[in-house]
Amino acid sequence: MHELGIVMHIAETVIEVMKEEELTEVKKIVLQVGELSSVIPRYLEECYPAAVDGTILETTELEIEILPGNGRCKKCGEVYNLIKQKRICPGCGAEHFELLSGTEFNLKEILAQ
Ligand SMILES: [Zn+2]
Repeated sequence: MHELGIVMHIAETVIEVMKEEELTEVKKIVLQVGELSSVIPRYLEECYPAAVDGTILETTELEIEILPGNGRCKKCGEVYNLIKQKRICPGCGAEHFELLSGTEFNLKEILAQ
């Protein structure tokens, strides 16, 4: 499980930003995690309290937005969810697709209040 390291890295980044922006408090941080990324949102949530314990972010809420893993069929052009459709195009049954989204991992927002 590499999520603890990831969460600690995010916490460090947020604390850096707080210093730069001279913020004394952050209410919420928002992460975007793609369905196809190697990061498991539930583990991030589980690790988060330990990662921020004793830091300035102790009372900061973590919100995770899940971005869908979508692909476009190379044969018929249909856009579909790769996980729900098991990577097979619902339109024509082809298995070749262009990846559109789902591998993201971003720190989207730091909300001061
Ligand atoms: Zn297709």
